[in-house]
Amino acid sequence: MTDAPLLEVESLEKHYPITEGLLRREVGRVRAVDGVNFTVGRGETVGLVGESGSGKTTTAHAILGLETPTGGEVRFEGAPVSDLSGADESAFRRRVQLVVQDPNEAFNPRLPVGEAVAEPLALHGMADAERRQAIVTDLLEHVGLSAADADRYPHEFSGGEKQRLAIARALVVDPDLVVADEPTSALDTRVESEILGLLADIRRQFDVAVLFISHDIDVVRRFCDRVAVMYLGEIVERGPTDRVLTAPAHPYTRLLLDTVPSLDPTDRGLAEPLTDTVPDPADPPAGCRFHPRCPAVIQPDSVSLPEATWRAVAAFRFTLQAGTLPPAAADATDAGAVRDVFDVPNEVPDETVERAVADAAASVADGNLTRASERLADALPTICERETPETTDVGGCSVQCHRYNPERAGEPLVDSDGLD
Ligand code: ADP
Ligand code: MG
Repeated sequence: MTDAPLLEVESLEKHYPITEGLLRREVGRVRAVDGVNFTVGRGETVGLVGESGSGKTTTAHAILGLETPTGGEVRFEGAPVSDLSGADESAFRRRVQLVVQDPNEAFNPRLPVGEAVAEPLALHGMADAERRQAIVTDLLEHVGLSAADADRYPHEFSGGEKQRLAIARALVVDPDLVVADEPTSALDTRVESEILGLLADIRRQFDVAVLFISHDIDVVRRFCDRVAVMYLGEIVERGPTDRVLTAPAHPYTRLLLDTVPSLDPTDRGLAEPLTDTVPDPADPPAGCRFHPRCPAVIQPDSVSLPEATWRAVAAFRFTLQAGTLPPAAADATDAGAVRDVFDVPNEVPDETVERAVADAAASVADGNLTRASERLADALPTICERETPETTDVGGCSVQCHRYNPERAGEPLVDSDGLD
């Protein structure tokens, strides 16, 4: 036993090379996981949440050693996993188990499920078949199935039942950590609820830690002690689930929780991303990776527009930059019509910004998107693009946002004096 947490993920990085030509020359890298830190304590349940493509599965695979990290380290009880060999490596493979999203991938269609569930026991050296069978029977009952199910084949079970079997198989070797990668995403809501209930029971009964991966922050709410929110390969916010879900500090977390009831007038408009385009992890935005979509993106120092006006101007800028113009804007033949599409007022109350917006709108009407985009980028430099935000760690919470001020945690992100 050591004092180290069960699992520590430190500065974990997994980049996939993008190659070209016969010589497979490297021309770029997909930054699937790009400097991720979190821990899982014994018996603890930690959620890893983020949209599809944010790097969750890659993180899971790197933890399990199914992918070799290109940087950083995974430690289990303080020992770097990449250094394990022989009996220690085999013990690690027993003590950390994976449950995947699609239970169909997890079972051999020609093997009775009892044998499939017992397989890891044999693999890890339990030679006594009768004992294996007793353990499997007991586990099947724990996951809501019966001893008689052991002789049936995978196709005889529903998706939810197969996921129960997958959970039984993960538990059969008495692991310390189960990594569950979207284990309910392929199931309908009712079955999802049942499986979540089962996981919660099992976690208590077996005293097993769970790394619970999901794109749905609401699922995490019901299940996890702590949560880490992932965006484009990075963790943008981390903390106790109660705190993160009731007082999200990062604008991206707020968006994931976009139905958070808020009566705060300063929050108006903060529940919508500026653009819907998710950037490519092979070419992530500079500074804060979320800035081109962030409804709380910071105004240039020299500018102080009413918040709603600023948001409209910023959405105009970043939509042009993403190159995904709404059809109405593409069809607009005069600058006024372009401004209307983006809800930019006819006269922005800041001379420099107004000139830039007028030029950009005219360029869009002329069909010159590049010029429009560059004009706005030059006129509207934001710290969110210029500088990578520090990660602020306070009292078990960690937030990576230029706006974040731990002394004002829980307060609105946008000052009310900027309100129109
Ligand atoms: P998530 O599980 O959050 O949906 P993934 O970890 O599967 O995200 O993927 C993160 C990013 O890495 C995606 O952009 C994905 O396309 C990319 N990616 C995943 N595996 C590979 C691979 N083997 N080669 C290249 N890119 C990959
Ligand atoms: Mg995934």
